[in-house]
Amino acid sequence: MNDEIMKELMKEEGVSTIEDLYKKFGELRENDATLNDYILNKEEDEKLNREIEKRLKEEGVLKEPLLEKEVDFEAIMKKRPHVVLLGAGASVAAIPNGDRNKMRTSVMKGFIDKLEMREVIDNIDLTFESDNLEDIYSALTESTEFDNVRIELEERIYNYFSKFQIPDEPTVYDYLILSLTKKDLIATFNWDPLLFQAYQRCLEITDNLPELAFLHGNVSIGICNSHKVGGYIGGYCPQCDKPFERVPLLYPVKEKNYEENLFIKDQWNVVRQYLDRAYMFTIFGYSAPKTDKSAIDLLKKAWGKKEDRNLEEIEVIDIADEGTLVASWEQFIHTHHYSIHDSFFKSTIGCFPRRSCEATFDRLMNVRFLDNTKGFKVDMKFDDIELLIKTLIDEENRNGQILTHPYLFSIEK
Ligand SMILES: [Zn+2]
Repeated sequence: MNDEIMKELMKEEGVSTIEDLYKKFGELRENDATLNDYILNKEEDEKLNREIEKRLKEEGVLKEPLLEKEVDFEAIMKKRPHVVLLGAGASVAAIPNGDRNKMRTSVMKGFIDKLEMREVIDNIDLTFESDNLEDIYSALTESTEFDNVRIELEERIYNYFSKFQIPDEPTVYDYLILSLTKKDLIATFNWDPLLFQAYQRCLEITDNLPELAFLHGNVSIGICNSHKVGGYIGGYCPQCDKPFERVPLLYPVKEKNYEENLFIKDQWNVVRQYLDRAYMFTIFGYSAPKTDKSAIDLLKKAWGKKEDRNLEEIEVIDIADEGTLVASWEQFIHTHHYSIHDSFFKSTIGCFPRRSCEATFDRLMNVRFLDNTKGFKVDMKFDDIELLIKTLIDEENRNGQILTHPYLFSIEK
């Protein structure tokens, strides 16, 4: 604590040493009303109060139970959302050995050959900056002359991604979905159906699952435009019984328009609302490519000034090197409030499933040590996962004000 403030407090309390000041608080503690009054008078400086209480606790002067006000603050923080943003790298991590039929999600390079579009592309009078899908697609949108080729390309992309099927064993997507609860959000840029397929089967374990948002559209989602109902593509609208229609995919052009389509606009509204309130923000396998400039701008707007985010935590799960990642996300990160992991299982979500905000608050604000060995492990079976999270789900169903968790470090393990 700032010495000036300390001196001021000592003066106010009529004591001459810090030890006496602590003692004074100790006396006040005997009578909660007095201490509460004292703290309420200082309402204009909440931060200072928290600091005083923290110091008193460290000194062993202030014991449980906590002041009501502090419980409120703790409950509010712990109930804030954890937002996870997924890029292509997350789908690669979800099926490192390919999907059920050994099909691999592709990064954009070499993609034209996979779609068997090489001949079509070579036969038109257009040169491309590179073989990257983004460059090819962007060039095709520059003139209506190429509309037929562009539409053919869109159709092949849609069909290509529709073929993916999630393997039987748990994937990183299953772990991720089961690590979060309905206060949280997973927003993905990916077109493939793997996340939603994982979601469907996670529902068999619990329905307390995070919200999903598909920021560039998705091949697994269908909607009824008349009734604004969505579900798995291939399903039917519960109200008019008509088959769901495809949602559009947002293809890679340099100036993406997130307002043009209602579905995509809605998805962005969801991410905006969650990000605004988020306590934690995890970016998983998303490299923020230059063609996504408008996406980054929208996210940045929702996150706000990094200076106003001095309590929040950002996590990056990515295999790229730290320098590159920090440079990519520099405008989001407040000083040291970030961590970078090369695997999902080393992240807060993987280590402290279903209690990532609770655990992080306990680590940072309650200054508790966490045990990161009790979370999810690579190669678990669905039964192992269910066993691990069962008591957590039971507690969530009882709707307590603050959820407990098993991740506090204790010596008598
Ligand atoms: Zn309908």
